[in-house]
Amino acid sequence: MTTDRPNNRTNYHSHCSFCDGKAPMEDFVEEAVRQGFAAYGISSHAPLPFPARWTLEAERMAAYLAEIDRLKAAYADRIELYAGLEIDYLNEQSNPASDYFQKLPLDYRIGSVHLIESRGKYVDIDTDAETFAENLRLHFGDDLRKLVTDYFDKLMRMVSTGGFDFVGHADKIVYNASQCQPDIAEQPWYRQKIREYFETIARHGAMVEINTKKYHAGGVFFPNRSHFRLLRELRIPVLVNSDAHLPQTIDSGRREALAALQEAGIDTVMQLTGGRWQPTKIDLAAY
Ligand SMILES: [Zn+2]
Ligand SMILES: [Zn+2]
Repeated sequence: MTTDRPNNRTNYHSHCSFCDGKAPMEDFVEEAVRQGFAAYGISSHAPLPFPARWTLEAERMAAYLAEIDRLKAAYADRIELYAGLEIDYLNEQSNPASDYFQKLPLDYRIGSVHLIESRGKYVDIDTDAETFAENLRLHFGDDLRKLVTDYFDKLMRMVSTGGFDFVGHADKIVYNASQCQPDIAEQPWYRQKIREYFETIARHGAMVEINTKKYHAGGVFFPNRSHFRLLRELRIPVLVNSDAHLPQTIDSGRREALAALQEAGIDTVMQLTGGRWQPTKIDLAAY
């Protein structure tokens, strides 16, 4: 479906059965067409240098890209489709700026951090609250401040290294961290770290997604809406994504996020249109 006015129904953070998504890629595309999306981007978890159950395997990269190409052609008259990857900043060798990822024929790249190193082991911080608390005890000696600081320091290294279009779920660790320490977001050290982090993002000209994945279950966006005014103050371009793992969540929380951005004085979102990121006015009436 095409519209002759701007349409904020776009999503550039989505998974499918090539990684840990719960349905074939085409099911997501069909749902996006059904809901009148202007554009849809597929962004499986990129391969890591070791096996992980939640990522696309390197051996399947060619098949992944071929399937996106096939769908681009098959749905060309109905929707703009884009090839992306959600790439972990693992270390200096494996990150969005790596040659391997830069040479892939992608339309865009998401930079994310899911793993934090402790004594030579990578610990997943994007887990349920119980596993998070256990990992905090086992691998970080219950030092929540150190773990959260390591997370943002790693993200800042990712931002300085570059090679990606936007930061994925910018402060997601706080969702789990605040189950361990409910007032963590009010701590002066935390507020200072967040400011330093967003200032680094602004300085490097990266975009930030407003990730709505946990909005319906947990009532939060990543980054938290309490930072939207800081995003505006620093003139960081934003886009709204649902990080969908199921076709029925491709639009989840988008309207609420767009409204929250408007409330914070942000009236445009970035959308990949005609192959270029373009500021697009938030139009809730059209939505
Ligand atoms: Zn992620
Ligand atoms: Zn994701």
